[in-house]
Amino acid sequence: MRRTAIVYDPFNLRHTLEGHPENFRRLKGTVELLEDDGILERLISVASTPASLDAIARVHTHSYLERLEIITGRGGGHLDADTYVNSDSFEAALRAAGGLINLVDAVLWKQAANGFALVRPPGHHALVQNGMGFCIFANVAIAARHAQRRHGVQRVMIVDFDVHHGNGTQDIFYNDPSVLFISTHQFPYYPGTGAATEMGVEGGHGTTVNIPFPPHVGDQGYLEAFQKVLAPVARRFKPEMILLSAGFDAHWMDPLASMGLSITGYMALVNELMTLADELCGGRLICVLEGGYNLQVLSHSVVSTFRMLRGDALPPSDPFGPAPSTERDVAALISRLRLLHGIRDTSQHTLPSRWMDLGDEFGI
Ligand SMILES: [Zn+2]
Repeated sequence: MRRTAIVYDPFNLRHTLEGHPENFRRLKGTVELLEDDGILERLISVASTPASLDAIARVHTHSYLERLEIITGRGGGHLDADTYVNSDSFEAALRAAGGLINLVDAVLWKQAANGFALVRPPGHHALVQNGMGFCIFANVAIAARHAQRRHGVQRVMIVDFDVHHGNGTQDIFYNDPSVLFISTHQFPYYPGTGAATEMGVEGGHGTTVNIPFPPHVGDQGYLEAFQKVLAPVARRFKPEMILLSAGFDAHWMDPLASMGLSITGYMALVNELMTLADELCGGRLICVLEGGYNLQVLSHSVVSTFRMLRGDALPPSDPFGPAPSTERDVAALISRLRLLHGIRDTSQHTLPSRWMDLGDEFGI
């Protein structure tokens, strides 16, 4: 059994807007299910504290921080059409980033083997100079920079399986070869970015990997992309830690998107990442909450993720089962992505090559 840590701060519930899909109930219901399940008491609780302004300023501009302080000071407003701010949002956003930073510290100091930061507001759409798409601070990017500056970590891999493209994270590291960003997302879809040809610039060319999926790619297509694109790129990059932008809105029941993942399918992806983390970076996998707007799906997904991280013998908590729709075959897309990213060597695969050929044929 692994020592798995959690960060949760009730203050994050105060950032909320009635009628908005990204509201306090997402976190409240999730923590209640963790309690009812009994797993919560078996997790290492990491304290939540506000991130320092220095830590935030490694990613965001001072003028954005000042503007945010003014908006919250006058009771709230909007950063864009989708992104609300209330009087507690600045503090809540500081604690979301700070909680994740504390979790990174706990794992890098070996107080925990891995963990999950149950924080909000989410972060992966946030831009250097503004919030966007329900996100205020780029939590995962701030945590990656913290690991580099405070712990001397050289190479960080960020995986983003939220159904939306993590445009903010991509932008922040687009020219940076020290951070590998790999995103699976519905495409074309909000926010519009994330084409396969967006691969980074300058020294960072090749350390941005976009896996743009048409709607209704289900468990098999996602797993194939992780095994045939994500894993070989990760092995080439040799990360010292893996951060996961864990959005559960690619589930087939999510109201905001049209993908076909099940909770069991999501957990197969977490399992792949754990295996890679064991192989490449001492098991250091740190998850942070992004999207997920069906509250039941979200809470069961988080419980299941904690079971995976701990190595519990229990199966995923998946009362909803697989998608009723037929899964899309993405073999052609995956072949194209492998070509684009120069993935040729299949020696890392455990299956004999003739089996891999059969796999290609059947799109598995
Ligand atoms: Zn999302």
